Amino acid sequence: CGIIGFTGRLEAQKILTEGLAALEYRGYDSAGIAYFKDTGKISIRKTVGKVKDLLAICDDENNSTCGIGHTRWATHGGVTNANAHPHKVGNVALIHNGIIENYHEIVNKYDLADSLISETDTEVAAALINKLYDGDPKATIKKVVAELQGSFAFCIMFKDQPGKIFAVRNVSPMVATYCDDGAFIASDLTAFIKYSKRYFILPEYTIMTMTADGIEMEDLEGKKVEPDYLEVNWDV
Ligand code: GLU
Repeated sequence: CGIIGFTGRLEAQKILTEGLAALEYRGYDSAGIAYFKDTGKISIRKTVGKVKDLLAICDDENNSTCGIGHTRWATHGGVTNANAHPHKVGNVALIHNGIIENYHEIVNKYDLADSLISETDTEVAAALINKLYDGDPKATIKKVVAELQGSFAFCIMFKDQPGKIFAVRNVSPMVATYCDDGAFIASDLTAFIKYSKRYFILPEYTIMTMTADGIEMEDLEGKKVEPDYLEVNWDV
């Protein structure tokens, strides 16, 4: 039910866990993070419970500067550690807010049952991205969103794309910004307002690529999309 992602020049774990705490008002039953390690691998920490339970299983020393975090409000599948996000399938780690309505059909059409270990609609999207991934994240994400019915806000990391976060949404909200510290994305501005009062709303069906050096967006036809920045002037 809450999403945060960061890649840039600060330690990600602190930004992710503080951001998730700021999104607590949205309600949730589980929390988790995924981040790139120095080795290029993606690590996941996730648990049923609150952000403080997540902090209890996180490494104190975590100098990763790229990661994604999620608080879950279970819609498909019980409240279990396996069903908590992020979900990792092969090359792909992903968080999701919303509901994929046609996930059963997708499992059958693409023969994904064997790659699933949770009961969530979300893991089906991770499995499909992993199955269709050909080294081109944006092209793969485009193919996958064309298959999905329902509401979604996704942040996606690929093991062979260190330092990068990809995002796309339909209905479910996401806002983002790029500032001196790096690139931020979240369900709403409260999650990163400490770092930036400038933000933009990610347009629907627009693929965003975030790196420490900037943010790029394109629509499903490949046309470049410019961010439409807004600014809040209240203090926190
Ligand atoms: N439908 C997904 C699940 O049940 C995402 C729920 C959410 O938005 O937190 O895991």
